[in-house]
Amino acid sequence: MTKEQKLQHIFDAIKKAYPNKRLFFNDGSSDAPVMIIGEAPGKDEEKQGKPFVGRAGRLLNVTLEKLGWQRADFYVTNIVRYRPQDGMGGTLTPTPAEIEKFRPALEREIDVVNPKLIVVLGRIAMTGLGIEGSMASNHGNSIEKKIGGADRKIFVVYHPAAILRNMNWEPIFREDLAKIRSAL
Ligand code: URA
Repeated sequence: MTKEQKLQHIFDAIKKAYPNKRLFFNDGSSDAPVMIIGEAPGKDEEKQGKPFVGRAGRLLNVTLEKLGWQRADFYVTNIVRYRPQDGMGGTLTPTPAEIEKFRPALEREIDVVNPKLIVVLGRIAMTGLGIEGSMASNHGNSIEKKIGGADRKIFVVYHPAAILRNMNWEPIFREDLAKIRSAL
Protein backbone atom coordinates (compact mmCIF):
# COMPACT_ATOMS: atom_id res chain seq x y z
CA MET A 1 0.00 0.00 0.00
CA THR A 2 1.32 3.49 -0.79
CA LYS A 3 1.58 6.22 1.83
CA GLU A 4 -1.35 7.99 0.18
CA GLN A 5 -3.51 4.86 0.43
CA LYS A 6 -2.56 4.41 4.09
CA LEU A 7 -3.44 8.04 4.80
CA GLN A 8 -6.74 7.62 3.00
CA HIS A 9 -7.57 4.69 5.31
CA ILE A 10 -6.90 6.87 8.35
CA PHE A 11 -9.05 9.70 6.97
CA ASP A 12 -11.85 7.30 5.97
CA ALA A 13 -11.99 5.98 9.55
CA ILE A 14 -12.29 9.56 10.85
CA LYS A 15 -15.09 10.25 8.35
CA LYS A 16 -16.94 7.18 9.62
CA ALA A 17 -16.55 8.32 13.22
CA TYR A 18 -17.80 11.87 12.46
CA PRO A 19 -20.50 11.44 9.77
CA ASN A 20 -22.14 14.78 10.56
CA LYS A 21 -19.04 16.98 10.61
CA ARG A 22 -17.29 18.79 7.77
CA LEU A 23 -13.82 17.32 7.99
CA PHE A 24 -10.51 18.62 6.65
CA PHE A 25 -7.29 16.71 6.43
CA ASN A 26 -3.78 17.25 5.09
CA ASP A 27 -1.92 19.45 2.65
CA GLY A 28 1.46 18.93 0.97
CA SER A 29 3.55 15.93 0.10
CA SER A 30 3.53 12.85 2.32
CA ASP A 31 7.22 12.47 1.39
CA ALA A 32 8.11 15.87 2.87
CA PRO A 33 10.82 15.63 5.56
CA VAL A 34 9.00 18.12 7.82
CA MET A 35 5.46 17.74 9.14
CA ILE A 36 3.75 20.85 10.49
CA ILE A 37 0.96 20.26 13.01
CA GLY A 38 -1.63 22.84 14.05
CA GLU A 39 -4.66 22.63 16.33
CA ALA A 40 -7.81 22.76 14.18
CA PRO A 41 -9.18 24.37 11.02
CA GLY A 42 -10.69 27.85 11.19
CA LYS A 43 -13.23 29.52 8.90
CA ASP A 44 -10.85 29.99 5.96
CA GLU A 45 -9.65 26.41 6.20
CA GLU A 46 -13.28 25.31 6.19
CA LYS A 47 -13.91 27.34 3.02
CA GLN A 48 -10.82 26.12 1.17
CA GLY A 49 -10.67 22.62 2.63
CA LYS A 50 -6.99 22.77 3.61
CA PRO A 51 -5.03 23.49 6.80
CA PHE A 52 -3.43 26.91 7.32
CA VAL A 53 -4.82 28.87 4.38
CA GLY A 54 -6.23 31.89 6.28
CA ARG A 55 -4.32 34.86 7.73
CA ALA A 56 -2.27 32.65 10.05
CA GLY A 57 -1.49 30.33 7.15
CA ARG A 58 -0.39 33.26 5.00
CA LEU A 59 2.00 34.43 7.70
CA LEU A 60 3.35 30.89 7.92
CA ASN A 61 3.81 30.72 4.12
CA VAL A 62 5.47 34.15 3.89
CA THR A 63 7.85 33.31 6.74
CA LEU A 64 8.77 29.96 5.18
CA GLU A 65 9.36 31.74 1.85
CA LYS A 66 11.62 34.33 3.53
CA LEU A 67 13.65 31.37 4.77
CA GLY A 68 13.97 29.91 1.28
CA TRP A 69 11.22 27.30 1.33
CA GLN A 70 7.93 26.81 -0.44
CA ARG A 71 4.88 25.75 1.50
CA ALA A 72 4.79 22.67 -0.80
CA ASP A 73 8.07 21.52 0.79
CA PHE A 74 6.09 20.64 3.94
CA TYR A 75 3.35 18.27 4.95
CA VAL A 76 0.75 20.23 6.92
CA THR A 77 -1.99 18.84 9.14
CA ASN A 78 -4.08 19.57 12.24
CA ILE A 79 -4.88 17.51 15.33
CA VAL A 80 -8.62 18.19 15.27
CA ARG A 81 -10.15 17.74 11.80
CA TYR A 82 -13.24 19.91 12.05
CA ARG A 83 -13.71 23.55 13.02
CA PRO A 84 -14.80 23.64 16.67
CA GLN A 85 -17.79 25.99 16.73
CA ASP A 86 -19.69 27.93 19.36
CA GLY A 87 -23.11 27.51 17.73
CA MET A 88 -23.20 31.14 16.54
CA GLY A 89 -20.72 30.76 13.71
CA GLY A 90 -17.67 31.52 15.85
CA THR A 91 -14.61 29.29 16.11
CA LEU A 92 -13.56 27.78 19.45
CA THR A 93 -10.26 26.44 20.70
CA PRO A 94 -10.45 22.63 20.64
CA THR A 95 -11.02 21.11 24.08
CA PRO A 96 -8.58 18.59 25.60
CA ALA A 97 -11.31 15.93 25.11
CA GLU A 98 -11.59 16.71 21.39
CA ILE A 99 -7.82 16.56 21.03
CA GLU A 100 -7.65 13.24 22.90
CA LYS A 101 -10.20 11.74 20.49
CA PHE A 102 -8.17 12.75 17.44
CA ARG A 103 -4.74 11.96 18.79
CA PRO A 104 -4.63 8.24 17.86
CA ALA A 105 -5.39 9.09 14.21
CA LEU A 106 -2.73 11.81 14.25
CA GLU A 107 -0.22 9.32 15.64
CA ARG A 108 -1.04 6.91 12.80
CA GLU A 109 -0.67 9.78 10.32
CA ILE A 110 2.78 10.59 11.77
CA ASP A 111 3.79 6.91 11.51
CA VAL A 112 2.75 6.83 7.83
CA VAL A 113 4.37 10.12 6.80
CA ASN A 114 7.41 9.30 8.94
CA PRO A 115 8.86 12.84 8.86
CA LYS A 116 12.43 13.60 9.91
CA LEU A 117 11.14 16.50 11.96
CA ILE A 118 7.80 17.61 13.37
CA VAL A 119 7.04 21.31 13.79
CA VAL A 120 4.27 21.90 16.31
CA LEU A 121 2.51 25.25 16.07
CA GLY A 122 1.32 26.67 19.36
CA ARG A 123 0.47 25.61 22.89
CA ILE A 124 -2.73 23.72 22.12
CA ALA A 125 -1.04 21.39 19.63
CA MET A 126 2.02 21.13 21.91
CA THR A 127 0.06 19.98 24.96
CA GLY A 128 -2.16 17.88 22.69
CA LEU A 129 0.93 15.89 21.73
CA GLY A 130 1.82 15.42 25.37
CA ILE A 131 4.80 17.79 25.35
CA GLU A 132 5.32 19.23 28.81
CA GLY A 133 6.52 22.72 29.67
CA SER A 134 5.54 26.16 28.49
CA MET A 135 5.77 27.74 25.06
CA ALA A 136 8.28 30.19 26.52
CA SER A 137 10.62 27.39 27.57
CA ASN A 138 10.06 25.03 24.61
CA HIS A 139 9.91 27.24 21.55
CA GLY A 140 12.86 26.92 19.21
CA ASN A 141 14.32 23.90 21.03
CA SER A 142 14.64 20.43 19.60
CA ILE A 143 12.65 17.98 21.74
CA GLU A 144 12.84 14.18 21.47
CA LYS A 145 9.63 12.30 22.24
CA LYS A 146 8.05 8.98 21.38
CA ILE A 147 4.89 9.63 19.41
CA GLY A 148 3.04 6.74 17.82
CA GLY A 149 5.53 3.99 17.04
CA ALA A 150 8.80 5.93 16.98
CA ASP A 151 10.96 8.52 18.70
CA ARG A 152 10.39 11.83 16.99
CA LYS A 153 12.38 15.03 16.81
CA ILE A 154 10.01 17.92 17.51
CA PHE A 155 10.31 21.67 17.24
CA VAL A 156 7.73 23.78 19.03
CA VAL A 157 7.09 27.17 17.43
CA TYR A 158 4.62 29.91 18.37
CA HIS A 159 1.30 29.70 16.55
CA PRO A 160 1.20 32.19 13.65
CA ALA A 161 -2.17 33.47 14.92
CA ALA A 162 -0.41 34.48 18.17
CA ILE A 163 2.24 36.30 16.11
CA LEU A 164 -0.49 38.15 14.20
CA ARG A 165 -1.78 39.43 17.54
CA ASN A 166 1.69 40.76 18.38
CA MET A 167 3.94 41.30 15.39
CA ASN A 168 6.84 42.19 17.73
CA TRP A 169 7.22 38.42 18.03
CA GLU A 170 7.62 37.87 14.28
CA PRO A 171 11.46 37.76 14.46
CA ILE A 172 11.23 35.03 17.14
CA PHE A 173 8.81 33.05 14.96
CA ARG A 174 11.18 33.41 11.98
CA GLU A 175 14.28 32.52 14.03
CA ASP A 176 12.57 29.41 15.40
CA LEU A 177 11.49 28.28 11.92
CA ALA A 178 15.01 29.00 10.61
CA LYS A 179 16.34 26.34 12.98
CA ILE A 180 14.47 23.64 11.03
CA ARG A 181 17.23 23.52 8.45
CA SER A 182 20.00 22.66 10.87
CA ALA A 183 17.75 20.19 12.70
CA LEU A 184 17.13 18.11 9.56
N1 URA B 1 -4.94 27.35 12.96
C1 URA B 1 -4.62 26.04 13.07
O1 URA B 1 -4.18 25.58 14.12
N2 URA B 1 -4.81 25.28 12.01
C2 URA B 1 -5.25 25.74 10.84
O2 URA B 1 -5.37 24.97 9.90
C3 URA B 1 -5.56 27.10 10.76
C4 URA B 1 -5.39 27.89 11.82
